[in-house]
This record gives sequence, structure tokens and C-alpha cells, in this order.
Amino acid sequence: MELEKLNLPGIDSSKRPMVIAGPCSAETEEQVLSTAHSLAAKGIKIFRAGIWKPRTKPGGFEGIGEQGLPWMKRVKEETGMLIATEVATPKHVELALSAGFDLLWIGARTSANPFAMQDLADSLNGVDIPVLVKNPVNPDLELWIGAMERLNNAGIKRLGAIHRGFSSYDKTMYRNLPQWHIPIELRRRYPELPIFSDPSHIGGKRELVAPLCQQAMDLNLDGLIIESHCNPDAAWSDAKQQVTPDILDYILNLLVIRNEKQSTENLAELRKQIDECDNQIIDILSKRMRVAREIGQYKKEHNMTILQTGRYSEILEKRGAQGALCGIGSNCVKNIFEAIHEESVNQQMEIINK
Ligand code: PEP
Ligand code: MN
Repeated sequence: MELEKLNLPGIDSSKRPMVIAGPCSAETEEQVLSTAHSLAAKGIKIFRAGIWKPRTKPGGFEGIGEQGLPWMKRVKEETGMLIATEVATPKHVELALSAGFDLLWIGARTSANPFAMQDLADSLNGVDIPVLVKNPVNPDLELWIGAMERLNNAGIKRLGAIHRGFSSYDKTMYRNLPQWHIPIELRRRYPELPIFSDPSHIGGKRELVAPLCQQAMDLNLDGLIIESHCNPDAAWSDAKQQVTPDILDYILNLLVIRNEKQSTENLAELRKQIDECDNQIIDILSKRMRVAREIGQYKKEHNMTILQTGRYSEILEKRGAQGALCGIGSNCVKNIFEAIHEESVNQQMEIINK
């Protein structure tokens, strides 16, 4: 890919993080303007708002549409912030360009669709505007890169990526799994490509925004795109994950921006790794419980007892030996698996007695 710097007016792209903030959706003129003025007062320079919203099911709020374009123009005129929105069709591109948007992004459902991406690339051919491409909903790095290549082939050189996490069937603490190794691999392949992280859509809840911002910064990503709303609880979309401009400011002020060159062998770094390991342990445990429940269902249908003694002893023995090989005390491993097994049995009991 032939890449150039994003070159956003008034934004120093070497100063991490570049921040894009604003509501998930433009809802009313008051909501847009009030959020924008508060964000501008906190020093935010790029304002986001979804005008067209891709929704999983019909009947929900699908964005205010064209009606919201003049509101965004007002944001630009009154606050001097740059304005950004999501485009999913050539019609959106046409309308966004004539409304004077400074930055466009392509959503996760669109970047997963090569036909849609090609249509968008064709509609942007010859236009000089920076475009950010969200990762596709599924964890497919090639598809993500392919989406960006289509734009690049159409002459879009000011490109960036947005890491917004990947959907998963398993219930996890995240709305979309971060799978950090994917943006890390993207960085390895295209060191010049700016990468933003979207903690709002990864976390899906307010409490996760701050730690995810910190993780993104610790991985040396370039920017953050964060959903912020003047009254998050009343938001028409993604209410749980939006934060007020005040909270956003607080989160940004608390961020520790580490120097890439500095040694990372300090306690805070190691504790973060422990947190990450613990998160993975919890995710994997929840996956194991799901399988246990499926087994419970099978046992119920086949009139089998829950406890199959042979199987239980085999698990304890095998896992104990595995643990010993990895330098973990076999008693410790045995205790952990006893507790896990106990919980599996409880979950299966619930299914059988339903
Ligand atoms: C959004 O940014 O509001 C959005 C719809 O995100 P995504 O495409 O990542 O789901
Ligand atoms: Mn959203």
C-alpha cells in the first residue's frame, strides 16, 4: 500500500493519542451541539457522530440521516473541531463530502463485505480525504487489509485503521474481543499505517473504556476513538458504553503514555500482564462451562448420570501431571480442577433438573 500521513489540520499525528470523540449517533441538534461544545472545551479536536447507523435488527434507531448533516456543519463552524462520520454506501460518501466532513470511517459490518468496499472505493476515487477502516466483525486480518487496499487502489493514501474488536459467540466480559495480536500483526506489516483503538465498541461498557485506552497506548497504538455523549444513559444507541465529556477528560488525563524506547520491565507492566492472563483464564473458564452445559444436555437426553467417576479421576490425574510438567505444583492444579469440576457438576445439575 502507498500510504501518506493522515495530515489532519491542527493535529500533530506524532503526539499520542490522537483522539476522536463524540456520540455513537447524532440524535438531535441539541444533543450534537451540547456534546460537541463540552468536548471542544476539554480540548478534543476531532468530533465523531454516526449519521447512518448499521443495526443488527430492523426497527431500531437507524440514524438520523441527512437531517443531521447541518448539525455537524454547525459543530465545525462553532467549535473549529474536525468532523467525522461513518459511510457505508456511495450515497453516504456523496452526502458526507458535500457536507464538508474532514474524515470518514468505514464500519465493521461494511469492511467485512468486499462488494460494499469496492463500491465505496469507486465512489472515493480521486477524492483526497482521510479514511479510517474499522476491522471487520470477524477476526480476519486479510479481509481488513483487503478493505484498505481497495481504498488505496482508488487513490486514498491518507488511510488509517480502527481496531474495534471482534465478535464472538461466547459470552465474555467484552462486547467484542480485543484479540490484540491482530492489530499488532497489522502494525508489523504496515508500520506507517496509523492505528486507532475503539475501546467503546471493544468493551461495550463504560467501566472498560479506561483500561482499554491504557492497553491501546501500552501497545503503542496511535489514536483512540471514544464514544462520548452529553447524557449517556439517554443515548438512542450504545447507551451503556458512552461516557460524558467530563469522564472522557478524566480518563484521558489519567492515561500513562509510555515511551516505546523505555524499559517495560517495571511492576506496572508486569501487573498488566497478570490482569491480561486472568482475563483469559476467566474467558476460557466460561467457554469450558458452556461445553459442560452442552454435555449436561446430552446426559439428560440419554438418561445418563452426571457423575462419571472414571472420567473425573482421569481429569484430575492428567491435569496434575500436565501442571507438574509446566512447573506448577500438582496439588495446586488438582485443587483448581476440583473447583472447576464442582462448578461444572452444579451447572449440569441445573440443566438436568430443569
Ligand atoms: C460506531 O462506531 O458507532 C459503530 C457502528 O461501530 P462498529 O462499526 O465498530 O460496530
Ligand atoms: Mn456505537
